[in-house]
Amino acid sequence: MKNFSFIFALIIAGCTQQKPLQHTRWSGQGYRPSLAGIQTKDDVISRSAGESISVSQQAFEGIPVHRSFVKRISLNKKIIFESSATAARPSQNQLNEAKLLQQNRSWYWLSFLLKYPDYKNWEIEKPVSVILNPPAMNPALQVVLRQHKTFAIRSILFNTSLKVINVEAVGSQLTELKEVSALAYPQGPVKSDLSHVKMLRDLNNDGLKNLKVKVDTESQAKIKKEQNLELPPTDDRFEQVQAFYFANKILNWFSEKLAVNLDANVNILTQVGFPEKTNAAFYYNEKIRLGTGDDIVFSKIYLDPSIVMHETSHFVIDHLARLPFTGEGGSLNEAFADVFTTFFLNSSRLGEVAYKKAPFVRNVDSKVTLKEKNGGLYHDSAIVSGFFWALRSTLGEEPSLQIALRILNRLDGYSDFADFTEALKEQVELLPMEQKQKVVLLMQERGFL
Ligand SMILES: [Zn+2]
Repeated sequence: MKNFSFIFALIIAGCTQQKPLQHTRWSGQGYRPSLAGIQTKDDVISRSAGESISVSQQAFEGIPVHRSFVKRISLNKKIIFESSATAARPSQNQLNEAKLLQQNRSWYWLSFLLKYPDYKNWEIEKPVSVILNPPAMNPALQVVLRQHKTFAIRSILFNTSLKVINVEAVGSQLTELKEVSALAYPQGPVKSDLSHVKMLRDLNNDGLKNLKVKVDTESQAKIKKEQNLELPPTDDRFEQVQAFYFANKILNWFSEKLAVNLDANVNILTQVGFPEKTNAAFYYNEKIRLGTGDDIVFSKIYLDPSIVMHETSHFVIDHLARLPFTGEGGSLNEAFADVFTTFFLNSSRLGEVAYKKAPFVRNVDSKVTLKEKNGGLYHDSAIVSGFFWALRSTLGEEPSLQIALRILNRLDGYSDFADFTEALKEQVELLPMEQKQKVVLLMQERGFL
């Protein structure tokens, strides 16, 4: 009896003060609070260590009670543990109101978005639903949203007056990404001025890191987690910030515009060969290595968007097609890296910023036909990159990129120009007649037909 009044006192305290829900716990012995009148929904049953665990939510006439639960553990079909957090029955008026809200929830959701337009860019993780909100048990609307870039997930509770009652971070996350301000050249120093830019950064770790890119350096100029990124170009760490910016820029374009999402991030190592100034600029095995440039052939490689983005494109190509680095497959690999880079930068020239020996390293605005193939890695890559640059004028940017990606998706580590041509023909077959005729002419001109 003593035990009983103790629990009873706890329940009273719980329900009048801190906790809006009544909590119970029974571990198989002693007084067992009765949950007989409690209706539940959405049972989830799991097994762990030989025990069967069921968790459900309290509901009144099908409307769940926010944060309520009933958990039961059974062993050999016998309940051996029970805990719960439940609410008292709402009034019939509240229940009627909740059911009406249930019918009109889409309208409330649209009104909510009109009032809070910032949430329009968030993805819906769990669509809007009606809940009863203890302790008053007034009906409210709940929606779970995910921010596109940061993957932050928020459970939002709002009422019929569109007032936000509660916003709660939900979901577990490996890293916490923050949007920080930095100084960088958005299009490189030739086509843009040094500007304040925003970038997502993991502030819990040293270095520059987010879900898409990680940058490190071979020099001593490491970036600490508390480092402000508004660094002048004369700072030794600027190199990392600029490379991080370029790589993120094109990877965001891949994911947002082309729906390419890779379950991996690319590692960029800058100042490769430090203290020597090397001309390294290559991709292999999830890693991009960038030297600073010897100031004879290349200078300040990290400032050249076309070089950083070409290498970053190799990372994307590697994930989609695993094209080789030599032979015809190697030429295709180079061609696709140039296609994505030149399309993104809206410029046919590569290496304009960093190359010292000529105005640029390569120009994809060129006509090399398949018959002119000679085994040269970049000579032959121009057959494909030049074709796509011309296709861009014929079909427009988006359809051309769509075709490029669909072809790439179908290539592999053994692909050659014949495989490319076959995949190209398949994609062109799918075009509307008028477009198809134009592309066929271009294919004939470039020797693919
Ligand atoms: Zn390359």
